[in-house]
Amino acid sequence: NHFVPELKRKIIQEAFWNDELHQEIVDHQIDFIFHKPDCRERCMMDIDKQRALVPYEHECHSLCKERGCGELFVTDGIWKLGYPICLFKVPITVEGMTINLPDCCPFEPEHGKLFCKKHASELKDAGIPDNLLGYARQIQKEVVATTMDCCNEDLTDEQHMALEDIFKRLNYQKKDSIATVDMQGSRELVSKYPGLLDENQEITLCRKDTGTSKRLRQWSRGYQFIISGGGHIEMFSPLYTSESPSQVFLFLVNYLAKKLEHVPVEKWKDVFIAYDNMCNLDRMKATKKDLPLPPPFNKMWSSVSKIIDSFHLRNHKGENCKLLYNPEKLKVVHENYNTQACEQTFSWLSRFHRILSSVPRVHNHFFLHRMVKKRNKYNSYCYSQGKKPVLPNVNHFSN
Ligand SMILES: [Zn+2]
Ligand SMILES: [Zn+2]
Ligand SMILES: [Zn+2]
Repeated sequence: NHFVPELKRKIIQEAFWNDELHQEIVDHQIDFIFHKPDCRERCMMDIDKQRALVPYEHECHSLCKERGCGELFVTDGIWKLGYPICLFKVPITVEGMTINLPDCCPFEPEHGKLFCKKHASELKDAGIPDNLLGYARQIQKEVVATTMDCCNEDLTDEQHMALEDIFKRLNYQKKDSIATVDMQGSRELVSKYPGLLDENQEITLCRKDTGTSKRLRQWSRGYQFIISGGGHIEMFSPLYTSESPSQVFLFLVNYLAKKLEHVPVEKWKDVFIAYDNMCNLDRMKATKKDLPLPPPFNKMWSSVSKIIDSFHLRNHKGENCKLLYNPEKLKVVHENYNTQACEQTFSWLSRFHRILSSVPRVHNHFFLHRMVKKRNKYNSYCYSQGKKPVLPNVNHFSN
């Protein structure tokens, strides 16, 4: 006689999002008035904005410190956790200057479409259909029809250039547009110090593949993480187009400025940053001079110690890599510091690949945020019990 509703996938999903958001609201005493159908997602976006600005905190124990917590920070990109984004281009300009950061529109495309809601309607207003085949025909460029049907196919260079042309013709430059830099939480830093990336040239001389690909369906390129030696996740940021040195640099500067506030200046040299693309990052012009930040933060980048983990260093062919970024300089002082914190965390993180690749941006960021908090809590719990956190085996050959 009782009506028992069937627990369909959709119901379970909704219950999951509602409960996770509820916990977040309770934990942080968030004030948010829910009055419209999309309020849940908007609340998630608000949380994400805050999340992008502040490093995660954790309960620290002696075992955590023994592995390098507070002194060693490892950063790396995980590429497989991307999500579809709008195909439109939004140049990032600050005070009339174009900043060398990915110019893709960071919003999710509408279901089955290539552009976000806003851009789809703007294109429509301009008389351009939002299926690109019609789009390309209109300007009589030869973009092969099959590419149009399959969103995940690679573009040839010619096709890519044809598309670039279309965007140039549209000549869209709206100053108030929300851009990748907003998703990464670095708008404030870039606007305050526009000189940070001005004459920045990215010269990639060494091994590192930063994962650029040209597909019709635009995807975000995954996430950059900063993880402390103890394995706690400090911060993460979405990557666009590729794991480019300028994005990673901005992310690190943003993070360090917050983290080093609590570290005496004379101890900055004891802070180690490990990154497998450190050589190319450190080759950027922006790193060769004082940062345009107030002292002592102008010397921040040159003060901290920079290394490449020994596993990755093997692949570096650059002459100076082994000299400048040798992990031995860390190992001689702190033998037990864990420079593989990223690989280890990513082997856990990549288990969420299937979930993350099937949810759009807002849920993607929010899910990751919730999992990171759970992971950090678990880590602290293990250390409080005198144990090392358990991790799946590291597979060095997956990225
Ligand atoms: Zn710790
Ligand atoms: Zn868009
Ligand atoms: Zn190198």
